[in-house]
Amino acid sequence: MKEYILILSVLLFSACPARAAEEKWLTTGSRHFLIYYRQAPEGLLERVSRQSEEYYTRITEALGFTRYNFWLGGNRARIYIYDSAEEYRKYSGQPVWSYGCVFIPDKKICSFSQGWDTFSSVLAHEIGHIIFHECLEMEKGSLPLWLDEGVACYAENPARCREASVFLKAAHHKGGVLTFDQLAAFIPAAAGEESIRIFYAESSSVVGYLFEKFGRDNFADFCEEFKRGRDLDKALRSAYGLAGSADLEKSWRRYLGIL
Ligand SMILES: [Zn+2]
Repeated sequence: MKEYILILSVLLFSACPARAAEEKWLTTGSRHFLIYYRQAPEGLLERVSRQSEEYYTRITEALGFTRYNFWLGGNRARIYIYDSAEEYRKYSGQPVWSYGCVFIPDKKICSFSQGWDTFSSVLAHEIGHIIFHECLEMEKGSLPLWLDEGVACYAENPARCREASVFLKAAHHKGGVLTFDQLAAFIPAAAGEESIRIFYAESSSVVGYLFEKFGRDNFADFCEEFKRGRDLDKALRSAYGLAGSADLEKSWRRYLGIL
């Protein structure tokens, strides 16, 4: 079994992740992104610039989102690249396990120079969060964390959702899978590393299941309904014909073979 690797990042709604006053940034840009950096190598900047544009298009399409508000000019998303993990954590105030963070209202993403695979995953994940919040026209509040993280993991790579399902089947035999009530009440800051791993895996697996079984158009319908009514059970009924969260849990467990 392929190891289920977790790249943790932090979702922020009320604090600026980059304390610009304490640092001097250089900038470069692309059509939809401004990139702030200090000593990041040119090769990395070119890759970030190219890849973020690809994600902007791919994730918008993957979520079935029809965009009217484009990230142009002063509305571009901003990516801050610190030179090291230490510097990132010091200035962004993030914990030692964090590889990146996103400040949703300002479309700000922070991370640091690191291996390209990890950096690229962080980038896709955080862009996924921003786009999903745009789909729902929501900054915070009634959006369940598991749904937010599951969609960001799907945006990162749908194959990660399938890996998560394989990981969970093994975890289930050890009694480790969360009920949906536990999933809905989960607070990562208060949990241990293994529980966090289960939480992310389960969130990804459930969202991956919704896409695999019902497709992108139904997901877009689900977003529309959820945006209108802010009622998860109602949106699940309307877009997927499910009776609500409990029915989703049953249907997902059956799909995983752990009912
Ligand atoms: Zn996330």
